[in-house]
Amino acid sequence: MKTNIKGKFSFPGGTHPPQNKNLTSESPIQQGPAVKQVAIMLSQHIGAACKPTVKKADPVQAGQKIGDSDSFVSAPVHSPVNGKVKEISLQSHAVLGRSQAVVIEADAENNPPKESACDKFTSSFDAGKYSVEQICAAIRQAGLVGMGGAGFPTSVKIEPNPKLPKETLIINGCECEPYITCDYRIMLEWTHQIIAGVKIAKKVTGCQKVFIAIEDNKPQAIEAIRQALGNSGNDDIKVVPVKTKYPQGGERQLIKAVLNKTVRTGGIPPMIGVVVLNVATTAAIAEAVVCDKPLTHRVVTVTGEAIAKPGNYYTAIGTTIGELIEFCGGITQKAAKVIAGGPMMGIAVADLTTPITKTTGAITILTKQQIGDAKFTGRKTACIRCGRCVDVCPENLVPTAIAHAVKNNLMDVAKNYYLTACIECGCCSYVCPANIELTGYIKTGKILLAKQEKRMPA
Ligand code: SF4
Ligand code: SF4
Repeated sequence: MKTNIKGKFSFPGGTHPPQNKNLTSESPIQQGPAVKQVAIMLSQHIGAACKPTVKKADPVQAGQKIGDSDSFVSAPVHSPVNGKVKEISLQSHAVLGRSQAVVIEADAENNPPKESACDKFTSSFDAGKYSVEQICAAIRQAGLVGMGGAGFPTSVKIEPNPKLPKETLIINGCECEPYITCDYRIMLEWTHQIIAGVKIAKKVTGCQKVFIAIEDNKPQAIEAIRQALGNSGNDDIKVVPVKTKYPQGGERQLIKAVLNKTVRTGGIPPMIGVVVLNVATTAAIAEAVVCDKPLTHRVVTVTGEAIAKPGNYYTAIGTTIGELIEFCGGITQKAAKVIAGGPMMGIAVADLTTPITKTTGAITILTKQQIGDAKFTGRKTACIRCGRCVDVCPENLVPTAIAHAVKNNLMDVAKNYYLTACIECGCCSYVCPANIELTGYIKTGKILLAKQEKRMPA
């Protein structure tokens, strides 16, 4: 296997945290736990939350829609199991704190594990037989959202818009966040399914140019995709190795690296004719359109030195983080932090009853050593004005100034420093020698500003 692939393309700023992907990169995708109960969050995406379409005691089938919304920017949610609605109640939510969920008791006798759809796809897949209308409807009905973490409804992203025609489709196979390997395994094991999804996405968006961007620390994935594309004779879909640098997988950073184009601050990729889709989302598009299956399961990397059986698990959405950890042999040493996601962009979770959602790509369990003693003890000092946070910010922001403004509740000042342009990549906190939680302040600032501007309830 060729392993000396070097990416030529990158973006300004960013950093190189230790990758630590070797814990799970060789772990093939396995079945996750057979669950007794799931909690399906009614808000798993950017946009309007769903309203339940079932009520307490209703029987439900695996794949049945259990929540939906009339809003354009939204995505329905579905049951991953056969069972009965136990309750509709507030449950712990990794991002929102607490949020409404449909809790379903699984039928112990009638719940065979869901198999992935990857065997259904070959190199000869042809998207020609599906109409644009059919594809749009299937993606909306399946409740697809960006599975790389953003959670933006896919139906909105791909929707044809004559005022803003789409020219270029970038498939994001970077997976730049340390520790996480779910997308890497999907690229190796579900290769034809991803390519089928790319062909469908190309058709529905009308993009003439398609690039599959993969960081050069994943040469096997680059080769697997290239080989599969070669076999199916696709000259119009190109694989682009990009430099390994965090946050290369950020939508704006990827566009800069692949196309040398800049999405203006506050803008979105469609404004410059670009659509970016994550590889797992692309695989889900293929399953939704070809197999008529909604998004009820996803691959989750469970990783960190403190977990007994790190690996990549095909998991029912709604499974609790605690159940998944237990299924992976439990926590073997004193863990400092359980994170939904990876160490840079993930969110520390105190309540292990928090369920997996469509955007949970990983559960990372870090020890004190892995976090680093100074960060762990939280020994902060005053800003020494070294400027490192400014140097690494991929969005050209001044993180120290924004954090200072938020700390002093000067939201107008924070706004003037483009608080809302922060992509929450965590680079500034990572490099700060004073251990100031810059990203934490900025995240808090965004919430305070949203409340102040009445975009969020107070
Ligand atoms: S300010 Fe935001 S975008 Fe810039 S480095 Fe910090 S977290 Fe990343
Ligand atoms: S990296 Fe930390 S110490 Fe250096 S300027 Fe930024 S906030 Fe201050």
